[in-house]
Amino acid sequence: MVISGRCDDIGCWVGKLPKGCKLCMEGLKSVVFTTGLCPENCFYCPISLAKKGKDVMYVNETPVRDLKDLLMEVVVSGSKGVGVTGGDPLVKVDDVVKMIKHLKEFLGDGFHIHLYTTGFLVNDKNLTALVNAGLDELRIHVTGEHSFKALKKALEYPIDVGVENPVLPNSLNFLKDVILKSSELGVKFVNLNELEASESNYEKFLQRGFKVGVDGVSVEGSKDVALEILKWVDNAGIDVSVHFCPAVFKDRYQFRKRLRRRFVRSKRVFEWGKGGLVKWIEVSVDEISNSSLKALWLADLAFKAGDKLLTGRRVGSLLKNLKVSYDLVEGYPTTPRKVLNVFQIS
Ligand code: SF4
Repeated sequence: MVISGRCDDIGCWVGKLPKGCKLCMEGLKSVVFTTGLCPENCFYCPISLAKKGKDVMYVNETPVRDLKDLLMEVVVSGSKGVGVTGGDPLVKVDDVVKMIKHLKEFLGDGFHIHLYTTGFLVNDKNLTALVNAGLDELRIHVTGEHSFKALKKALEYPIDVGVENPVLPNSLNFLKDVILKSSELGVKFVNLNELEASESNYEKFLQRGFKVGVDGVSVEGSKDVALEILKWVDNAGIDVSVHFCPAVFKDRYQFRKRLRRRFVRSKRVFEWGKGGLVKWIEVSVDEISNSSLKALWLADLAFKAGDKLLTGRRVGSLLKNLKVSYDLVEGYPTTPRKVLNVFQIS
């Protein structure tokens, strides 16, 4: 075996990447956050305070109310699969089963669905319902003996079964043990996530002497431990695929690539995009004469929204030449658009 990948912000691995990760790397996975409820209480849990312990649902960070909203978001993002996460999605197993059925029914059997769980609620009843609905891949966060029982049980079913754990800087021996036991059980892969700092775990990290890296997201020492584990797995020829996923990956690859796809599929005629962001121009209707307004509307070059005219960069250059002040707006191509910056041009 050899270590593949660049081991910078794209990550690296020994053996084969799980299918769910391959799709995620191409920005082809939507993230379905099913609930903030979870039977575990990990001090390192990175879930935001707005979601933690709350029964809320989001797809790609957009709140959704029902299966129609969910399907719409997945389709407009051009996703070929979803990662079902939380909290522990199995706390809401009936809803998750309905969701998987719905996605498979509309998007076909090839639409790939992986699910992350704590293992507490992995039992025959839940596994049968999930597998019959069409679940493709199950990832268990190992926190104790119950997790290995859950892995063993899941391995009886015709789905890909893996482990997914964060790498704490002091968890080298624990993770080596997890990998050896996983390999003995016949688990297909172990995903090691770089420990991620967030508003909800930052204080707890400081109390334990963990330091946050210069990128503001990763915890120092986590990557070093993961790389040591990969080398150990490689040298020892342990029979399980192990993948290291860096904390910045989500933002730089998964998130940006998905946003680019979403932009192409949801582009309004006056918008243009760059690096996953969407831009457009807003000008107050009071700034433009009635005849110019009419000409722009008739040519489909501008659209009225309240007292604003929304338009593109060609009209922006014209406005600049005419010394008409306007706003250049920049945001994420979500629905509705999430505005990040407004630049006043005059
Ligand atoms: S199992 Fe996962 S979701 Fe639950 S508390 Fe731990 S890190 Fe958070």
